Order: sequence, then C-alpha cells, then structure tokens
Amino acid sequence: MTRYETVKSKNPNLTDRDILLGEEVVTEEQYLRALCAKDDIPFMEPDVSLVDTSLLAKVSIPYLVRQRAMPLRVVDGRLNLVMSDPLNAALIDELERTYGMTIKPAAAVTARIEEALSTLEQLRDTAGVEVKTALQYRNIQETPEDDDAGEGAVAIVDHLLSKAIAMGASDLHIEPLEHKVRARVRVDGVLRHLTDLPNDFAPRILSRIKVIAHMDIAERRLHQDGRFSVNAEGRDVDIRVSSYASIFGETLVLRLLDRRRGLIPLDTLGFEPRILAMLREVVLRSSSGLILITGPTGSGKTTTMYSFVDFTRDDSLKVISCENPVEYMLDGTTQCSVNEKSGPTFADSLRAIVRQDPDVIVVGEIRDGATAELATESALTGHKVFSTFHTEDGVATVVRLLEMKVEPFLVASTLSCIIAQRLMRRICENCRRPAEPSKGDLRFLGLNRDYLRGVPLLAGAGCSECGGTGYAGRMGIHEVILLDDDFRDAILQKASSKDLRRLAKKIPGFLTLEEDGLLKVAAGKTTLSELADNAPRDADLRDMSTIKEVAAIRRDR
Ligand SMILES: [Zn+2]
Repeated sequence: MTRYETVKSKNPNLTDRDILLGEEVVTEEQYLRALCAKDDIPFMEPDVSLVDTSLLAKVSIPYLVRQRAMPLRVVDGRLNLVMSDPLNAALIDELERTYGMTIKPAAAVTARIEEALSTLEQLRDTAGVEVKTALQYRNIQETPEDDDAGEGAVAIVDHLLSKAIAMGASDLHIEPLEHKVRARVRVDGVLRHLTDLPNDFAPRILSRIKVIAHMDIAERRLHQDGRFSVNAEGRDVDIRVSSYASIFGETLVLRLLDRRRGLIPLDTLGFEPRILAMLREVVLRSSSGLILITGPTGSGKTTTMYSFVDFTRDDSLKVISCENPVEYMLDGTTQCSVNEKSGPTFADSLRAIVRQDPDVIVVGEIRDGATAELATESALTGHKVFSTFHTEDGVATVVRLLEMKVEPFLVASTLSCIIAQRLMRRICENCRRPAEPSKGDLRFLGLNRDYLRGVPLLAGAGCSECGGTGYAGRMGIHEVILLDDDFRDAILQKASSKDLRRLAKKIPGFLTLEEDGLLKVAAGKTTLSELADNAPRDADLRDMSTIKEVAAIRRDR
C-alpha cells in the first residue's frame, strides 16, 4: 500500500488535500498549482490592492481568516473570491448567500491570504480603507482615479508594476489566456509566474496600460508600441510597452529600464580578480586603443561597457557617446541617440565626434564596415574607444573585423582588448547545497566525471527567497584577450581563426568562456547546467588544475 492508501484507510474522512498536505507529499503551493492547472482555476498572489474594500462591510476579517478566503471584486455581477481551498463548496454556498451573487473562485496559498487580510485589517485601523502604492507616473497629464464601478484597473496595474520593479525584473508580461490573464516577470533572464488574474480584468488592465503609454486604446487588432516612466521609491524606471494582438486578446510586454540599476560597479561584474586587476591597470588606464565587448543579444555587454566607461571617466576627460538608443544616463558625458534609418547613424555621429575634441569615445555598437573603420581610425589618432560587437567569442571578433574590410594593420595596431561575455545565474546563497553533475550537462560540455574529480559542486534547492528557482542574480563569465605582440603579428599575417585561438591560449592569464565558467562552477557560484546553457564549447579545454594555475597568473607590465 502507498503512504496515501495507508492514511486513507485509517481516516476515510480525510480529503486528498488533507492527506497530500498532511503527509507532506507536496507543498500547499504545489498542490494548488496542480489543482488550478487541472480545473482551470486562476492561481493568484493575493494582494490588498486587488481588493474592493467595500466588500468587507458584509463579512468580518476574523471570519475570513478562519475560512482562509478573501473577496476581491465584483466583475460583471460575479464576486471573485480567492480561497486556499477552491473546492470548498460549503463556503462558496455560504458566501453566495451573504453577497447575493454568484462566486467565481480563485486559489492562493493560505499564508498569502492571511498576510493580505492582516494588512487590510491594519489599513482599516489606521487610514481608512484607501490603499495606495508608492508609484508615481511621469509624463502623464494626470493619473485617472479609480472609478466608481470598482474596476480597480489602476490599483492592479500599480501593483503589478511595483512588484516587478521590486523583484528587479527586466520585463513584465501580461498575457490573456483562454480563462485567465497571466502576469509573468523575467528575472535574471528567466520568466517567472507572478500572478493570475480573472480574465474579466483583462480589458481594463490593457486599457489602463495603453492610456499611460500613450497608445491607441481603440485599436486592438494591430501591434503597437508605447512608453512611459515611473518613479518607484526613488528609482526612475523607463518602461517601453509593446502590444501583440493574440487570439485571446492583446498580449502586453513591458520592458523595464531602471536607469540606476544600469550602472554596475566594475568589481561586481564577475571578472576573476586577477583579470580585473589587469583590466584596471593595463586597459582602462591607457589613453588610447579600441576596447571591444562582444557577445550575443542579452549577454550583458552593454552593461559591462557602461561600467568600464563609468570607471574611466573623470572631470579631466571629455567623454562622448553615440548609442542606439541611450539606455542609461552617465553624469558628465555627452550622449547622443543614433537612428540607423532616419539618422544620425553611428558613422555620421563618429565623424562629428572626432571634431568635438574627445578623449574617450563610446560607440554603442559596431554593426557595419564604415563604423568599424571610423572606430579604429579614432583609436589610431590617440582616442580611447569603447564599443560592443555581436560575435561568439574573442577570436571571432578579429575575424569579423577583417571580413568588414578593416585593414589588418588598423586592427593590429589599435585593438587593445577584446572581452567576450555571457551571463550566468548565481546560485541562491540561501538554499545552496552539494549537487551531483547531470550526465546531460557533462555530455553537452564535453566533460567526463573524472574531469571534475575532487571539485565540489553546488546547486540551489529552491526557496522562498529565489522564487523556487535555486538562483538569485547573475554574473558574467569572460574571455579576455589582451593583445600581445605575437597575436598582433598574427592579425597582420591574416592568420586563420584556428591559429589565433592557439595564440590566444598562450597569452598569460587567458581563459576561454567555458574555462572561466568552470572556475566559477568550481567556486560554487554557479552550476554546470547554467554553463551548458550559456557558454560556447571549447574544443581544447585544459584540465581544471591548469585552468586554476592560469587564473592565478598575473601579467607583469
Ligand atoms: Zn533559494
């Protein structure tokens, strides 16, 4: 007999829920998520801002705490009720009689319902029942007040935005599905479920966001873009909204650009300490040369570039940028947004910048031969130039520049450093514990078990602090090529990428992305599966002890 059957035979009156939770087979959240998926019930993060507080006049809060339920709002004549047990028909009956209307149940874990009820109680004791968030909108004539119909769209949107900003999300997705609206946030590059809302809320939520983003509310069949800014607890966040007309209604994606978060101090980007020291002493101190940060979209290269520029700039230097678009404001620098279609383009801006007597030039991205050539020429004439590039790794950057018809002598004489980068999630420090490598990850990375012999691996078990993911925050892994004479000669000779790769490995302190990632895995900062998901394979991977030795070498200059 299974444990379930044993308990059931002894206590035939217990429900499945009582047994599954009582025996700790699953957590309440796991149980509810499964039940909601099966019966198509919204699973929610209940929050006070979702509650029409006038509904509390008919029932007492202690009663609701006992029943583990909370009324939300009346929509289209039906009362939305969030319950810890959405199958409790007796309670639904009782409240339908109390309110005189049909109830539409939603589910939430007991602790969250209790939390929300206790907040409501405090609010009622102090400042009446008005609930306000700390969000302030910019560039909007006025924030329309919640209307009398109890629709609550303003409060709900405020709630979703505040929550996304507090979690450090990069995106908020609002997706109408067949029976509910799903809100998800992207945190550390991965989408997480935030809350479900009853689908009756959809039109009002969508309209509210479209109003504040200056989009056409009446237009629901065409894809649209908009933007607005908010201030949340002293942080300015620019929000770009895009709508996509899906079969169940418009899906909105809100990209959150927190200008302050954009600037991350150099020493928290994830560079190995000795690499960081080399970058500080050799690359960032020198007054000229081209520094390229490369990687695919979403690899954090723009963030790294901003950190470099921020580290470099001081009052004695003129720093000018052309970017597409300017994402973060840097104090004391002259920034310009380029537009490749309507102008000014990167090439136009670079031609103008050199006449502005700059010391440091920041080119948002090199995408074409003309920009590449202008950037290298500026570096040749004694400027320090920072830019990003879209290639797999450091060596591919050199090859690509030559393919763009930049003269080999220009590349060899101006390029001072290439940094290839990827982002990996950090293991949550609150729930990390020893872990075994999975066969799939080992195979994908081209490793056998012996390779990691004696290397203690860690992974996050998942806890409330990391939203059950086992990860919290991200860091970079890097492949840094500090060009030496042999490497420059090879560029002049137009050496093959295979030869360049071989030479790069001879540069003191050089590690490939996979090697740098393995160091961080061995240090318990991240996992093998993050490495497998994010780093390109290194066909000539060196063994762990060599990698550790190389990382410990400091180039003498
Ligand atoms: Zn955790």
